[in-house]
Amino acid sequence: STFAEIDLGDALNANIRRCKYVKPTPVQRHAIPISVAGRDLMACAQTGSGKTAAFCFPVICGIMKGPPTQRPRGVRTAYPLALILSPTRELSVQIHEEARKFSYQTGVRVVVAYGGAPIHQQLRELERGVDILVATPGRLVDLLERARVSLQMIRYLCLDEADRMLDMGFEPQIRKITMMFSATFPKEIQRLASDFLFNYIFLAV
Ligand code: AMP
Repeated sequence: STFAEIDLGDALNANIRRCKYVKPTPVQRHAIPISVAGRDLMACAQTGSGKTAAFCFPVICGIMKGPPTQRPRGVRTAYPLALILSPTRELSVQIHEEARKFSYQTGVRVVVAYGGAPIHQQLRELERGVDILVATPGRLVDLLERARVSLQMIRYLCLDEADRMLDMGFEPQIRKITMMFSATFPKEIQRLASDFLFNYIFLAV
């Protein structure tokens, strides 16, 4: 099978060719069509199995094909459409670099924010606009508390290496993030969402 068979759009397909990806890896072959179809997914695959592309492609494709978004103007708050949480600075940087290659000339803007580094440069990048935010949990909580990021417009949420984030003690931050996330939704929608969260597809390759 090839990437062209999955309908990801011309711009993304051109970037995939530029990255010299010819054949999808097993996790990509199985996960991408499920996510493009809008289903929730929990995927288990080893490091180096091509997971980054497996979650980046559907997100980029969905943002490109999705309805146009109106963000509030004249505010310093960034409204990303997709959030990718990852446990470490190194992994976040790596995801950001890959996601930027995949989103070349798509109009989709990717920004990274991680702790252990000055926040000012990251704030400047966020102010220029963000569609996909790649972040570590601690720095994201900081940005949410400063009201420099809002999760109100999030359509895609990805927890990369969720097991490692829990091992590293990020559970309180992840809980806080998901709470701030759901705080913007009415109770009935929350109940609906909690039913849907159980409705995910489990994939192990
Ligand atoms: P990951 O598991 O996402 O960290 O990817 C591991 C490495 O494989 C990275 O260097 C990717 O750029 C590369 N890679 C991912 N998918 C493919 C593919 N379909 N074809 C060739 N290389 C790939």
